[in-house]
Amino acid sequence: MTARAQGVPPIFDGHNDTVLSMTKTGRSFFERSEEGHIDLPRAREGGLGGGFFAVYIADPAAVETTAAGSMRPESHPLETAMGRYADERTWPEPMPLDYAEARAVELLGRLLEVAEGSDGQVATVHTARELQTCLDRGTFAMLLHLEGAEPLDPDGRALETFYAAGVRSVGLTHSRRNRYATGVPFKFPSSPDTGPGLTDLGRALVRQLNARRVIIDLSHINEQGFWDVAKLSSAPLVCTHSNAHALSPSARNLTDRQLDAIKDSRGVAGLNFHVGFLREDGGREPNTPIARMVEHIEYMAERTGIDHVALGSDYDGATMPVELRDAAGLPRLMEALRSRGHTDGDLTKLAHGNWVRVLRETWGA
Ligand SMILES: [Zn+2]
Repeated sequence: MTARAQGVPPIFDGHNDTVLSMTKTGRSFFERSEEGHIDLPRAREGGLGGGFFAVYIADPAAVETTAAGSMRPESHPLETAMGRYADERTWPEPMPLDYAEARAVELLGRLLEVAEGSDGQVATVHTARELQTCLDRGTFAMLLHLEGAEPLDPDGRALETFYAAGVRSVGLTHSRRNRYATGVPFKFPSSPDTGPGLTDLGRALVRQLNARRVIIDLSHINEQGFWDVAKLSSAPLVCTHSNAHALSPSARNLTDRQLDAIKDSRGVAGLNFHVGFLREDGGREPNTPIARMVEHIEYMAERTGIDHVALGSDYDGATMPVELRDAAGLPRLMEALRSRGHTDGDLTKLAHGNWVRVLRETWGA
C-alpha cells in the first residue's frame, strides 16, 4: 500500500547519511535491508518521497583505505563524530582540501549512480517544480547536499563543478572548524554560542552561494556564525536537522531567538529524530517516545508558526527512537501528530510543503 493510498502526504526529509551507510555496509538502495534506516522499499512503505542526501566527509583518521584503494568511512558517522568532536579543544586539524574533494567526488558519484541505475524510480532534483512532480508521481527525489564546506576551494571553482553535478545545498560546517566557519561541538548541556563566526572566506562563500541560489544549511554552525549568515544572506535561513534548545539543551539545537530569525526570514527548521537532540537529559536512549518528537514540533510551531517547521530525520547517521526504527516507521509519527488534532493542511506543510516552498524561494523555480 502506498502512502498516498493511506491518505498520508508524502514526506520529504531534510537530512540523511544514507550514502555513508551504503558505503560502509555495501547494501543496495534498491533492496530491503535490516541495516541502516533508508532504502527504496522501506521509503515506499513509510511514505518517504525523498530528501536531502548528505555528502559528509569523515575525518581522515576515521577512514580506512581498502586494499583496492577505495576508502571506507566510520560506520556510524554521528555516533563516532560525537566522540571526536565533543570538545573543541581536542578537535582534529581541519582536513586537507584534496582529501575532502576526492571523498566528495566519490560519494556524489555513488548517489548519481543510484539515480542513474534506478530505471526512473529515483531522480535528483534541482527545482521545486521537479521536486513537486516527483512527489506527485511517486518518483523518489534526491537533493544533493554537502554537509560541511571542506570540499570547496577558496576560489569557488569546486562549487561550480559540484553545482554542475547537481549539488543544490551546502552546510557551511559539520561540528568542527574549517576555513569558512566553525561548528558547535557535540556538547550537552551547552549553548550553541561556542566560538567565532564566519571568516572572510566564509563571507565570500555565502555571497557565492546566494549568487548561485544554493541552500545554505546552518544546522551545525555555532551561534555567531548563524547570526553572521542571518545578516549577510539574502536567502531564507535553513537548519535542515536541528531541534528546540528549550526542550533539549544541546549545542546542536536552536535557541528561541534563532527560531524567531528563521521565521522572520521565511526559512525552516527540520526536526532531527536523534534521541540525544530530543531528550531533556541529552541521553542516547532509544526508548524515547514519539511523543517527545511531537513536543519539539509543537514547541517550534508555537514559536514560528507551522509554516517554518519540517522534518530532518538524520536517518542512517543517528540513534532513532525505537518506535520509529527506520523510514518504514514514519506513518507512526504522522499518526501521533494527527491524533493530537493537527489538520491535514498542517501535516502536508510539515511533511513536504514547507520544504517545497523554501526551496522554491531560494532556488527561484
Ligand atoms: Zn548533521
